[in-house]
Amino acid sequence: MNSKIGRFVDSQETESWDDAAKANSPAAAAIGFLDGLLCPAGPLGYNGAMQLPTIQPRSSRRVNVGGVGIGGGSPVVIQSMTNTRTADLDETAEQVERLAAAGAELVRIAAATAADTAVLGDLVRRSPVPIVADVHFHADRALEAIDAGCAKIRLNPGNIDDAARVRQIIAAATDAGCAIRVGVNEGSVVGRCGAELDSQQLARPLADLMVKKLAEYLTLFEEARFGKLVLSAKSHDAVTTIAVNRELAKRYEHPLHLGVTHAGTARTGAIRSAAAIGALLAEGIGETIRISFAGDPLNEVTAATELLASLRLRERTGVELIACPTCGRLQMDLTPVIEAVEQALDEMGRVAPPVTVAIMGCVVNGPGEAANADVAICAGKGKAVLYRHGERVRNVAHCDIVAAVLDEVRTIADGA
Ligand code: SF4
Repeated sequence: MNSKIGRFVDSQETESWDDAAKANSPAAAAIGFLDGLLCPAGPLGYNGAMQLPTIQPRSSRRVNVGGVGIGGGSPVVIQSMTNTRTADLDETAEQVERLAAAGAELVRIAAATAADTAVLGDLVRRSPVPIVADVHFHADRALEAIDAGCAKIRLNPGNIDDAARVRQIIAAATDAGCAIRVGVNEGSVVGRCGAELDSQQLARPLADLMVKKLAEYLTLFEEARFGKLVLSAKSHDAVTTIAVNRELAKRYEHPLHLGVTHAGTARTGAIRSAAAIGALLAEGIGETIRISFAGDPLNEVTAATELLASLRLRERTGVELIACPTCGRLQMDLTPVIEAVEQALDEMGRVAPPVTVAIMGCVVNGPGEAANADVAICAGKGKAVLYRHGERVRNVAHCDIVAAVLDEVRTIADGA
């Protein structure tokens, strides 16, 4: 090995870490460095004083979207999108309400046809959260959505690019106080790549093309001094999404809407989104997010909330479930129990104060997790031990675990 640390370890120049620490050698410096990282207080022991990083949001402008602030130090805004036919007002309004109840602070709808935009006035009145109209191809849909009172519209530079029509939309949005997201997707720019690109080059040029497309389009907004702007650039590929948004964050103070497009089902969509959006948020980039995957959009909101809570960008408002991933030490079939608890807690909805529940499959980590959880189960052979705030409460039969956990959560949530 070539590194100083590696050379020291491999060549046995000293006999122990202690000996090396006493020596005035590169190895000693390396040990000192490692020791400092791991142990501010003493040699090679950890005293629990490691500082956890705090995410510092980048500086961005604040855009008011129907009373919801995006950027400028506001909490990262969760949004989702309906998958109903927008023109079916009752069905769409009902889904908007469900999404809002689950934690969506903005809800986007597809404004694809004149029949869709015809119901937007009523939808805006019925919605508990600001409505965003997603517009492609037809400038008239954008004008109708603004006229109907939508708080924001989304324009795609790839398919509404007639400068005169865009200026008309900007003027209408200015008069109405409507925000505009300029959202470019890799699908809108890929045609400009031509046939020259090989697959290895694909990630970087796509990011460049998206930035270029956006920059060209934004000249129309700059010339009109339109400030209620949110920007987005999405790819199906997490690495491209990270690259392009880093570049946008360098160039613009407009808030950024983060998302991964066409991410597929929950299996791929949730992980790709968490990889790309999580990486960017950890760098302080991104003022509003949409996690998107096929299926009930309610799951998108749940995933977005979990992502923000995991990064400590949001306080948990519900139950945090810590669960054994299962291994050969399992003392019972725990997976159905975990699923049943998870479902019951989901149905319970938000509880205050937030409660941490640990469902553990054996004694290896069970008591340790129980010490840090509000409610915990440590499963053993034939029975499980129930803990509250780290204190052993009682034994419960395997078949009673779900009911016992829920009782404890309710008791804590009720302040008992
Ligand atoms: S809690 Fe026990 S059974 Fe579950 S994964 Fe950890 S060691 Fe395995």
